[in-house]
Amino acid sequence: MEQTIAGRLAAVRASIAQAAQSCGRSPEEITLVAATKTQTDDTIRQAIAAGVTVCGENRVQEFTAHLAAGAYEGARVHFIGHLQTNKVKYVVGHVELIHSVSSEKLLLAIQHQAEKLGIVQDILLEVNQAGEASKDGFSPSQVLPAARLAAELANVRLRGLMCIPPPSTGPGKNLPYFTNLAQLAVDIRQEIGDNKADIVYLSMGMSDDYQDAVRAGATHVRVGTALFGPRPPVPTNLGREF
Ligand SMILES: *Cc1c(COP(=O)(O)O)cnc(C)c1O
Repeated sequence: MEQTIAGRLAAVRASIAQAAQSCGRSPEEITLVAATKTQTDDTIRQAIAAGVTVCGENRVQEFTAHLAAGAYEGARVHFIGHLQTNKVKYVVGHVELIHSVSSEKLLLAIQHQAEKLGIVQDILLEVNQAGEASKDGFSPSQVLPAARLAAELANVRLRGLMCIPPPSTGPGKNLPYFTNLAQLAVDIRQEIGDNKADIVYLSMGMSDDYQDAVRAGATHVRVGTALFGPRPPVPTNLGREF
């Protein structure tokens, strides 16, 4: 195993490329989002120096601290974690894409804040396919109504879907979740008449299953452990992981 971030990054990029080529996709279609939760400013800087172009943050507190420290300089930032409606002001307008819009209430709060700032915020809808109580997200049957609502909001641009399936138990095991999410996105595009082709992103796949996600059409994979090694403990009591 490569033990530096640069070495691990090269290995992850190579395996993304391999998965892409195995199904006739171009590796350039896939954005590697480095999941930086619990990492230090220094580690984030090292990752960016090694070639990471997008950082994905989970917790608002960590995000605002890294932002204030200038740790993300040279990279774009996405928000990928659980977002409370009362914290949207720290995130909307500060990140390129919010992956984890998990309720209509949150969607409306993001619209409200984006309108206040006079911007359009790109978002994904998070889908909870396995109905896991521990995780946020719309059930598959709630996604289309939420997508319709998003399409009506002037300051929100729906770009696609995201999922966090249960931990993969082996190669190919999470493939059904990923193919289902891809199909759900096709259905939504048809129903909404997405003639601007806005709804094109599929954020799916983590360290243990990103190759399967790429095979199913992922445009964004969110990878932490495979890039950074085992995660350091949460610095302070910042709440749950997702
Ligand atoms: C932590 C996290 C990841 C990355 O997890 P790894 O298994 O370490 O690659 C991806 N997505 C989200 C939402 C996360 O919170």
